[in-house]
Amino acid sequence: MTAITQSVDLDRRGRVAVLTVNNPPVNALSQHVRQGLRDGLKQAGADRSVEAIVITCAGRTFVAGADITEFGKPPKEPSLHEVLDLIESSPKPVVAAIHGTALGGGLEVTLACHNRVGAKTARFGLPEVKLGILPGAGGTQRLPRVVGVPKALSMIVSGDPIGADEALKAGLIDEIVEGDLTAAAVTFAEKVVAEKRPLKKIRDLDEKVAAVRGKPEVFAEFRKSVARQTRGFRAPENCIKAVEAAVNLPFDQGLKRERELFQELITSPESKAQRYFFFAEREAAKIPDVPADTKSRDIRKAAVLGAGTMGGGIAMNFANAGIPVTVVEVAQEALDRGLGVVRKNYEATASRGRLTMSDVEKRMGLISGTTDWSKIADADIVVEAVFEEMPIKKEVFAKIDGICKPGAVLATNTSTLDVDEIASATKRPDDVIGMHFFSPANVMRLLEVVRGKKSAKDVIATAMGVGRRIAKVPVLVGVCYGFVGNRMLHQRGREAEKLILEGALPHEVDRVLTDFGFPMGPFAMGDLAGLDVGWRIRKGKGVKSAVADRICELGRFGQKTGAGYFRYEKGDRTPIPDPDVEKIIVEVASEQGITRRKIGEAEILARLLYPMVNEGAKILEEKIAIRASDIDVIWVYGYGWPVYRGGPMFWADQVGLKTIRDRMNEWRKTQGEEWTPAPLLDLLASEGKTFTGA
Ligand code: NAD
Repeated sequence: MTAITQSVDLDRRGRVAVLTVNNPPVNALSQHVRQGLRDGLKQAGADRSVEAIVITCAGRTFVAGADITEFGKPPKEPSLHEVLDLIESSPKPVVAAIHGTALGGGLEVTLACHNRVGAKTARFGLPEVKLGILPGAGGTQRLPRVVGVPKALSMIVSGDPIGADEALKAGLIDEIVEGDLTAAAVTFAEKVVAEKRPLKKIRDLDEKVAAVRGKPEVFAEFRKSVARQTRGFRAPENCIKAVEAAVNLPFDQGLKRERELFQELITSPESKAQRYFFFAEREAAKIPDVPADTKSRDIRKAAVLGAGTMGGGIAMNFANAGIPVTVVEVAQEALDRGLGVVRKNYEATASRGRLTMSDVEKRMGLISGTTDWSKIADADIVVEAVFEEMPIKKEVFAKIDGICKPGAVLATNTSTLDVDEIASATKRPDDVIGMHFFSPANVMRLLEVVRGKKSAKDVIATAMGVGRRIAKVPVLVGVCYGFVGNRMLHQRGREAEKLILEGALPHEVDRVLTDFGFPMGPFAMGDLAGLDVGWRIRKGKGVKSAVADRICELGRFGQKTGAGYFRYEKGDRTPIPDPDVEKIIVEVASEQGITRRKIGEAEILARLLYPMVNEGAKILEEKIAIRASDIDVIWVYGYGWPVYRGGPMFWADQVGLKTIRDRMNEWRKTQGEEWTPAPLLDLLASEGKTFTGA
């Protein structure tokens, strides 16, 4: 065996040369990998005793993409294009042997090869669109030539990988092989040589792209089919244009077009934000004083207290991950109702073809309901989701303290109550932590893990780990009212209410945010959640919200009553502006002596988002969040902040902290002290710095 570079070896198996990439953890296409492939190919090409070449990878996967640490840096030789040209123009057949995931540049390497064989468990994809870019090394030109245009469009624009069976069916791989992958690939290569098969260069294939040539409607229909989920993103459209080029231009011109479209994206603000967010999400897993090797507690059995809106969804998360879960209620009736909703949810998913009925039964089989609290004595983790009242929470925690085995993690899903006070009801506050799910709990990816003063480090590590196991994105936060997400949301809500009194209408405020990229604005969101919830809380606390209270007094609780801030047609969730609400708003404004005026969209946006940024700064100062990017992860996964705008803190950095600070100071003069810039915002603005380093 010869080492070509630090990460590529050249070996011989009879008349077949085997190039092995070994660049852990995912065999990314770093400079030394590209160089190793190039030089290894040249050596094997020059060796007259070599008749074929196999490219394979060591470790757990085939090349899973570009080395994204090289992004934004000056390109280093050789380029991936040069390597791929060399592979494709090799006069000796080159066979890719694929296991794990062949993603992005990895899949592009295999597409330059003449043949591809894969393990049964291998997966294949071009996920570049998720970073706001497109496959820039021929992927958009070669993939449609192998799998056809519709399949290529769906793979490139969704970025989602496909499995080996699907890849075989689509013609992406020649064979699924079992046993030793390299040996099988060598055998395959020997067969290609023995049979004197002509080299299959994908660049020369035309049949599948010719099939849609002169049929622009194929693209028009595809655009329509993805319009909703790609709204606001820049990359999907360029991906489609690149595939159009594959159809309409000769290969080399198509490559050129792909390059141009790639360049447009790599310099776009959307891609900058998406690449930032990619790292932000990974960063969120890191907790400075709880290192990655902190031993977690073993979680095999879970319990959920309360089978209401949240409890049911939380139980589903455990069942979906194969963890048996016991749901506890006070009364049988509430239990039956709660588990009935869970079943209905699963069945609805099955009716959409996304679960089989046997999956539904399997998952329901993992959920058991009881009113007998002793049944949770052996649970490894308990998530409490009972009524949001401190005396009840304390009573429940005192009770489970007496029942649960030592070492069980005791988590609360409270949204607004003090986790430390809840923990104080037990004799083991170090086992207590917050696990704040978002509604619907079985759907929303965000999980705020709330660290109490006494939460043990292994309890924190366990809660974060369980979060990932149940397919959530856990972010660690500290104890304060509303934690990170709702605390910032509250600021936005406050301004939204002021804006409608000052002159904007609910649909105008909402539209500014949906244009920005949110799935809905604060008023439609209120209507969806139910306005009665907030009304009841306000009445309990003796606080008022003039417009909202008056709307509720009319029995308008939102979608569920057919009217709230908006009105709704039967069976339709589209919010329709309602003159009756405008009348209420105008009346309240006049009662409060407010002269209504026309408010521009830019002002509405700034008024809604600057207070969030300012609150984010306070959250950082108070060390409620570990880092600014964690706040961004919370907003993207919990509140629909558009990922192509990075998150509120990243966004603020792009606007410029000085701009925000100065504007806040102006509004402070006219609007009051709530516009006082947070000291951290003020400091960073003065020093010309940013929250996120971006
Ligand atoms: P819910 O009223 O829908 O459900 C609460 C359930 O708890 C009810 O079924 C009730 O019968 C049961 N319950 C009450 N006392 C109990 C006790 N002593 N023992 C066992 N069960 C008991 O409420 P929800 O919306 O599911 O909220 C539950 C918790 O989740 C609250 O702390 C809430 O703040 C929090 N939360 C709610 C949301 C949301 O959007 N609804 C979001 C995040 C967090």
